[in-house]
Amino acid sequence: MLRSPKRPFVVTFASGKGGAGKTLMATNFAHYLARDREITLLDCDVEEPNCALFLKGEVLERTVVTVATPSHVEERCLMCGECARRCRFNAVLKVGERIHLFPKLCHSCAYCSDLCPVHALPMVPREIGVLQRSQVGRLTLLEGRLNLGEEKGVGVIERVLKEGCAPQDGPLPDLVLVDAPPGTACPAQAAVAAADLLICVTEPTPYGGHDRELLLALAKELGVPAIPLLNRVPTHLTQEFEEGTLLVPHDLEIATSYATGRLAYENNLPLLGALDLLKGAVFHVP
Ligand code: SF4
Ligand code: SF4
Repeated sequence: MLRSPKRPFVVTFASGKGGAGKTLMATNFAHYLARDREITLLDCDVEEPNCALFLKGEVLERTVVTVATPSHVEERCLMCGECARRCRFNAVLKVGERIHLFPKLCHSCAYCSDLCPVHALPMVPREIGVLQRSQVGRLTLLEGRLNLGEEKGVGVIERVLKEGCAPQDGPLPDLVLVDAPPGTACPAQAAVAAADLLICVTEPTPYGGHDRELLLALAKELGVPAIPLLNRVPTHLTQEFEEGTLLVPHDLEIATSYATGRLAYENNLPLLGALDLLKGAVFHVP
């Protein structure tokens, strides 16, 4: 694991779908590593952040996350309609002699604002979510939460990544772990693109195999090295998988701990063994 002096080493846990085990792995691995070093964990699953259910720490800070969107100043407007014609995302519409704005479609590019000849579309902040910082021993947890009904998950994810990987106050962390949103769409891509190493968490099923292929293709496209990790592997199948794939066995104790909001690794040898192997893999990335 090589850290640049300007940014930490970032390990992202991603999965093709929710429930595959990335939060289980990210929270247990973060807590396991934080026994002897400073660790930052970023919960970027902003539509359903749940790392804090397992890492119950003291909340130190809560800040609002905003994005810039245009607001219309009617008394200045010439009704030329240029803003509506040029917005590629149909976030501005001219109907008769009225301008309508659709903030949830806006991509904050400020093009309409810049082109308006009379400055009738100033960019203003719009709240889309919150960022919460909490502390559990040597582990700092930064959680992004998208407001209900909002669609701009990427805006909150980018803010969490920025705060976690390049904090304005305090020292730069050595290692940052990221719990990514599920899937391979834009929110997941934002979390994977920030990674130096991707852990692809999937299940040993045909559907999981399909998810794994998609994630590995995404990692390749973005130039991020990836390690496959299979969760809930039946013990009689552990010999079936290729070398280099990390395996977490199917285990009732792990499932029970997860379902009741507890970390499992301290009392579970198979999971502890998997975390030891994962640590070895992370710290041996050139
Ligand atoms: S570009 Fe400016 S002046 Fe023209 S319709 Fe849009 S807001 Fe009004
Ligand atoms: S800021 Fe960009 S995306 Fe948003 S309304 Fe203006 S042109 Fe459209």
